Amino acid sequence: MQVDYIIVGFGLAGLAYAEELEKHNKTFIVISDTSQNSSRVAAGMFNPVILKRFTPVWNGKDQIELAIPFYRKIEEKLNKSLGNLDQKIIQYIDIYAILKSIEQQNNWFVACDKPVMEDYMIPKILENKNNQIIAPLGFGKLINTGKVLTELLLDRYKNHLLQKEIFIEETFQHKELIIKEDSVSYKNSTASKIIFCEGFGVKTNPFFNYLPLNEAKGELLIIKAPKLQLDFMLKAAVFIMPLGNDLYKVGATFNWKDKTLIPTKEGKEELITKLETVINTEYTIVNQLAGIRPAVKDRRPLIGQHPKYKNVCILNGLGTRGVMLAPTMAKLLYQNLEENQNLDKVIDIKRYQNLIGN
Ligand SMILES: Cc1cc2nc3c(=O)[nH]c(=O)nc-3n(C[C@H](O)[C@H](O)[C@H](O)COP(=O)(O)OP(=O)(O)OC[C@H]3O[C@@H](n4cnc5c(N)ncnc54)[C@H](O)[C@@H]3O)c2cc1C
Repeated sequence: MQVDYIIVGFGLAGLAYAEELEKHNKTFIVISDTSQNSSRVAAGMFNPVILKRFTPVWNGKDQIELAIPFYRKIEEKLNKSLGNLDQKIIQYIDIYAILKSIEQQNNWFVACDKPVMEDYMIPKILENKNNQIIAPLGFGKLINTGKVLTELLLDRYKNHLLQKEIFIEETFQHKELIIKEDSVSYKNSTASKIIFCEGFGVKTNPFFNYLPLNEAKGELLIIKAPKLQLDFMLKAAVFIMPLGNDLYKVGATFNWKDKTLIPTKEGKEELITKLETVINTEYTIVNQLAGIRPAVKDRRPLIGQHPKYKNVCILNGLGTRGVMLAPTMAKLLYQNLEENQNLDKVIDIKRYQNLIGN
């Protein structure tokens, strides 16, 4: 099969590049296994404010402004090709940040005054009226924030690609890739370019494993808490995200040592301890999930062409914010490869050229 692109890896990065290609009527195939699952376990939250310090996320406002229509368009497309869903893939939900001290209350107001925050942060302190939540000093409220149902999105998009017979479920064997001047070949497919979107799986990719990931395992709990009755996301020592039917996602841990996808006792205990500083309600644990965030040493994505093989490219390093970053990064990579637009140095993998061979 002759196509414009081969995409390896189908998490949020691979999906965003596939969407970019469909938008431009390019032909492609996707090859993915399930060895990594960061995008599937993710809470899927989008929010342009770092809630520890009330500072803006790097380019967060611009990324959200691109991401919302991006996911909406996919939702419409999938409803057409696969039939309507009664659930929205992208949903707005306010975030209530528990304020822990008078200093934090003051910091909230200072942050609200920054022009980049005005669409998101409400300049007042809300009183806590829910006795299942521990928040004696009230909440700061964020609006225009929300979540993407990442697992549903990936399942639906995969079905769309399966219908078109362009999704291959298998582990990509890097040693079988044949690279020529103007093309790459893998098994019986030939393409102009290959884009690796493997998340933490990039560690086994001989072309790009020199890139300095600072991967962080994250664990989450799903709890059932019938009396909690939240219709917003709550953020304090942990975040609590309503899923419907009295279920909530609670997360997340950060562990830079353990590289497995196995949920741990330590992760569970840490989440329970933190959760009980936030809520005062009966709950049961329904499930525990774990994934590895493909974070980078300098906290910026890893985008661009291999320094030696121009047809071998990467879209990775989405770290803790894949939902917001993936659409923008896919667009920038496409414009770089197809329209000769330069990549910003802070995201271009050229910044790590000196590490090759180390
Ligand atoms: C607990 C947790 C909570 C999170 N919460 C949020 C959140 O609220 N909001 C947010 O924006 N982000 C969140 N994230 C981060 C987000 O999940 C990541 O930024 C994003 O999912 C990374 O997507 P990716 O496509 O690069 O990687 P992945 O999702 O890991 O996808 C990579 C894909 O490539 C496949 N693959 C790898 N190697 C091969 C190979 N050799 N052959 C074939 N296929 C291969 C993998 O199996 C996988 O399907 C969270 C992450 C975790 C772990």
